[in-house]
Amino acid sequence: MAVMEPQLEEVPCNLCGSTRSRVVHNRPYALGSMSDCAATTDSFAQYGRVVRCRDCGLVFTNPRPTLKTLLAGYGACVDETYLDESSSRSINGHLSLNVIKRFAKSGRLLEVGAATGYFLNAARADFEAYGLEPSEWASKIARERFRLEVYCESMDTDRFPDGHFDVVAMIDVIEHLTDPKAALKRAARWLKPGGILYLVTPDVGSLSAKVLRANWWGLRPAHIYYFDRGTMRRMLRDAGLEVVLEKSFGRIFSWGYWATRLKNYPAPVYKLVLWLIRALDIGDKLLYIDTRDSMELCARKK
Ligand SMILES: [Zn+2]
Repeated sequence: MAVMEPQLEEVPCNLCGSTRSRVVHNRPYALGSMSDCAATTDSFAQYGRVVRCRDCGLVFTNPRPTLKTLLAGYGACVDETYLDESSSRSINGHLSLNVIKRFAKSGRLLEVGAATGYFLNAARADFEAYGLEPSEWASKIARERFRLEVYCESMDTDRFPDGHFDVVAMIDVIEHLTDPKAALKRAARWLKPGGILYLVTPDVGSLSAKVLRANWWGLRPAHIYYFDRGTMRRMLRDAGLEVVLEKSFGRIFSWGYWATRLKNYPAPVYKLVLWLIRALDIGDKLLYIDTRDSMELCARKK
């Protein structure tokens, strides 16, 4: 595979258009981490320069990779380890579906950033399910393993007419996009009036983000926007969406997977936890944790 030219660009605030910001964290940027795999890269620490808009408070990476760089990276993204947690990812899909079904029980559902299709596979019991996924590798698994309608396309696709969907889901996706404001407007256009946008994203206003600061696990090269509840609400409102549910989002993973979250913290802590997991033989056992630093929202199209 050809090595991609590193490409970063300075951008104004996506929420309010301001160019006035202050630096919150300053690290080198791990270019190349996108094609390793954006979703679960371990080069957490090199997340670049993170700034906060002085006018509206939006936190974002600046400079950040260009759209072309990101699309090339996500298109080539292959992550076999993503499949290791298939049971827990399926259960997490059902947890999300249960929340969505409080507001929408059936109809057409689109997932943007469907990855290998665990959520859609859960959703299709109740919905006519479709997905968009830029990774060739992941979308192929979704089509071949789960027989899902997942297209290897970005949100620029003209495949779906406006007002087509009852639900649009974006799970851990919005923080990866170069233009989240346009993405939410696009999602809103795809929704029928009264349709529901379901969204999960890290919460930079959470306690763990404040305590762990530059070492917070939400900070990683693939994330280029960091929302708190205020900036996310404002962005949804600007897209014509009314928040009807907002809470923290817990999820299920194996003990072994949770332990990898500690990789970048002091080695004795990480080693002790790994030793305990091995001693107790619970590496594959599942555990639900709500670290209270991801937010889950449902927003209704007016
Ligand atoms: Zn701003």
